[in-house]
Amino acid sequence: MVSRHVAAVQRRSPNELALMARAGEIAAAALARALEAIEPGVSTSAIDRAAEETIREAGAVPSFLGFNGYPASTCISINDVVVHGIPSEHVRIEEGDIVGVDVGAIYKRYHGDNAATKAVGEAPAEALRLLQVTSECLALAIEQAQAGNQLRDISSAVQEHAEGAGYSVVRQLLGHGIGRQMHEPPQVPNYYSPGEFAEYELTLRPGMVLAIEPMINVGGPAVKVDVDGWTTRTADGSLSAHFEHTVAVTKNGPRVLTPRS
Ligand code: MG
Repeated sequence: MVSRHVAAVQRRSPNELALMARAGEIAAAALARALEAIEPGVSTSAIDRAAEETIREAGAVPSFLGFNGYPASTCISINDVVVHGIPSEHVRIEEGDIVGVDVGAIYKRYHGDNAATKAVGEAPAEALRLLQVTSECLALAIEQAQAGNQLRDISSAVQEHAEGAGYSVVRQLLGHGIGRQMHEPPQVPNYYSPGEFAEYELTLRPGMVLAIEPMINVGGPAVKVDVDGWTTRTADGSLSAHFEHTVAVTKNGPRVLTPRS
């Protein structure tokens, strides 16, 4: 189904951007703490608790908890899990895993959202290359978040880099606008398929805020969802990585609202 219409994309005032920057900073601190907690033998629930504690100590609220019934504050996605892995006491990190953590925070009604994927100990060379390429996809996409560019410049940047490395872009899941809702217009595809999304022709303007989040697979692009209704895996069992930042378009260029030191 081709959508010809892009719902109105909000443009945030300087005051709103200041609140979103604080939300982003908290989300980034939660992500950093979660990534630090990742080591062999740790349960994904323990990692989730560390992130949630960081959010609450900062006076914010986890974006994900209760979202469409989601039961945790983070998504923790291991190896062939692309996104939306549910933290569990029964899932423990193993040496050589790649572990994606996605976490969002709400501060004074505004959301920040970010994700990163980390290798645990001695991971296979292909896994390390996937992480490198996927983080580069995000960096290249952020460079395109310039006033006057079209949204498809972001989409193409991800696709060209990922496919140039021999990998594929997940097509069934998209980045998104973000603000007072975690998911707002526009949708932000990580590939450019002319005519598929009206968003491609959206001209980026100062004050627009996007959650840019490439999801890249070593194998094919197809994904499948587990019976839990959330856990999304590569259909072919290949490794997948995910990196995300919340990025404001400003007159001075892209501003990452979820910076990690
Ligand atoms: Mg997101």
